[in-house]
Amino acid sequence: MPSTALKTALINAEKKYIASNPKSQTRYHEASRVMPGGNTRTVIFYSPFPVTFEKGEGAYLWDLDGHHYTDYLGEYSAGLYGHSHPAIRKAVVDSLDYGTVLGGPNLHETELAREICKRFPSCDLIRFCNSGTEANLLALCAARAITGRSHVLGFEGGYHGGVLKMFPNEALNVPIPMVLGQYNDIETTRELVKTHAGDLAAIIVEPMMGSGGAIPGDSAFLSYLRETADEHGIILIFDEVMTSRLSPGGLQSRLGIQPDLTSFGKYLGGGFSFGAFGGKAEIMSRFDPSKSNSYAHAGTFNNNIMSMTAGLAGLREAATTDALTQLNQTGDWLREEMNAAAKALSVAVQVTGVGSIMTMHFQTNPIHRPADITSAPEKHALIHLEMMSRGIYFARRGYMALSLALTDEDHQRMLSAFKDFLSDNQDALH
Ligand code: PMP
Repeated sequence: MPSTALKTALINAEKKYIASNPKSQTRYHEASRVMPGGNTRTVIFYSPFPVTFEKGEGAYLWDLDGHHYTDYLGEYSAGLYGHSHPAIRKAVVDSLDYGTVLGGPNLHETELAREICKRFPSCDLIRFCNSGTEANLLALCAARAITGRSHVLGFEGGYHGGVLKMFPNEALNVPIPMVLGQYNDIETTRELVKTHAGDLAAIIVEPMMGSGGAIPGDSAFLSYLRETADEHGIILIFDEVMTSRLSPGGLQSRLGIQPDLTSFGKYLGGGFSFGAFGGKAEIMSRFDPSKSNSYAHAGTFNNNIMSMTAGLAGLREAATTDALTQLNQTGDWLREEMNAAAKALSVAVQVTGVGSIMTMHFQTNPIHRPADITSAPEKHALIHLEMMSRGIYFARRGYMALSLALTDEDHQRMLSAFKDFLSDNQDALH
């Protein structure tokens, strides 16, 4: 139950927010006439209504009412390059002169495929699609077709796409039979594998749960999944849609574990729609259309020139090995600074994550899996609105993904806003 101090602080924050965002509010009402709840992507809704953005440039955002924000959301990790990175912009604008969808192979897809396979050694071959959801669906369907088995083992609270949420009885999930284990829990997973091994086509896991709360996977747990998949002929899929940016070779290289298949998305399209799945030649060559009985994989926009050129420019000119390493070190530093600030002010906040992706939680007890997270929607709403009023934008759930465009001065401003918020709201956060 929220305390009276918390309720009062939130009411005041909402009043202030409504008063300072009249144009966004009007826009929200207009949008609601043509889209359910004025929304076409659930995660970008928050109460009382979201601000409408007018412009993004580098690490900054401007809304309709003229507020300026430093963007710590980074489009849920897809915005690695910041807004309108000059090299990406140039590559896209230059390519426009040559058409956007040509109805055949173009000059760019092989280059991007080569760059991704070079970075992620578990990928001998790769296929493009249009979203992370699609990448996971294709990886799971391929695993089911190859093994002739029906079920998929996932981990409760995980997220693999709009129709692949790892919660029991999710209304909109695809009807693939799921077995749900507990993340980072070898013993209960072992029991599940024992019971279902003969039916399991795939194990799908994020090496760090992203949407589930930026919860790092234990190396022992993920190694166990590799071993048990080998033992039982199950295809191990690492969903690196978010985590592939957490080291130059993805979280798999940091952990030293090679999955059979990896799904990708987000920033790898340079800020345009993107998905991909790749892995061992033995599996991926089943998609080779020159072979008989190959799997047909369709997608009008799979090799669209915008995503291919933007993705390639981003990898070659911005997300270099050095730049990614540096950004993830900065993320580790920022998380430590935020945790130290919360501790110094005796406020029960902890920031979890790996490198440049992190999430705030209003608790001090350790978090190994989503079930360990204490629900605190009022505190999340309060910090979200209050930090926005201080010019810092991140997700309502307290999620942040740093972009390469952020500077040290941005981080200092963010930290000082965070400290101000904590000290101004000690009673409400108690
Ligand atoms: N997997 C993970 C781990 C994700 O974080 C996401 C997106 N948040 C997806 C899959 C789905 O990607 P998309 O939104 O591109 O469909």
